[in-house]
Amino acid sequence: MNTPKESYLVIGGCGFLGRHIVERLVARGEPAIAVFDLVQRHHDKNIQFFTGDLCEIEDLNKAIRQSKATTIFHTASPMHGTNNPKLCWRVNVDGTKTVIQAAQLNGVKYLVYTSSAGVTFTGGNCIDVDERVPLVDETNAYDTYNLTKAEGEKLILAANDTESGKGRLRTVAIRPSGIFGPGDRQNFEGLAQVIKRGQTKWQIGDNTNLWDWTYVGNVVKAHLLAADKIRAEAHDPSLSDPSRREELCDY
Ligand code: NAD
Repeated sequence: MNTPKESYLVIGGCGFLGRHIVERLVARGEPAIAVFDLVQRHHDKNIQFFTGDLCEIEDLNKAIRQSKATTIFHTASPMHGTNNPKLCWRVNVDGTKTVIQAAQLNGVKYLVYTSSAGVTFTGGNCIDVDERVPLVDETNAYDTYNLTKAEGEKLILAANDTESGKGRLRTVAIRPSGIFGPGDRQNFEGLAQVIKRGQTKWQIGDNTNLWDWTYVGNVVKAHLLAADKIRAEAHDPSLSDPSRREELCDY
């Protein structure tokens, strides 16, 4: 697909998923990549790094302006299991609002949000779930993390502006379930602890429960395809026709 090169800003780009997104952008030869995170965990020669808190609009304004970002991947969130509802509301809801505001203010064109499969999870079985299943709310959410990821996703999708033509913000949300792969800081660490503590003899249920896991490389691919798709559609609206989907899968 021959679309113009973009400048990328990966919010949460020092985290597990964010880092893989950065590495994939580098691998496909993107010339302009920047990272925004609370802490710098990686030092790369050709990648601009901005320390900041996504809840602070001035931190974001500076990063977006200096990196000249046209596409943002917003992957940052407190970890699931963080027993801190206030932090989840602050980062996932107020912070996501701030990301949208900064993107609109600074003429960012494309915003990809990492949501979560938990945005529809109410504690029961999830079978054949897709976008038609309603998001959780405060009456049925499994926990505050999932509720605030759902609220963040709502904000992101409400900010999608396909009506005003080129130059306006287009948004999309991706909902991974458990992510595994090199650099994972939570899921397999937890499993390793269970094994170390000799707790593997315990079994809940009859061993027929299923749980979705996705390799981090595939989650990255979904993010890049989503960005490529909303960009391609902005240039050629006929691409939103599902019969042309294959044309978006050529990298
Ligand atoms: P991670 O904790 O490894 O990375 C998150 C990054 O965001 C960290 O580097 C952190 O410093 C940064 N960050 C947090 N708060 C910030 C703030 N206020 N300002 C700036 N940066 C901030 O998490 P991950 O596993 O890579 O998850 C990435 C995304 O994927 C999250 O949005 C998460 O909700 C979603 N997700 C993860 C999983 C999973 O299994 N890991 C599953 C579903 C969805």
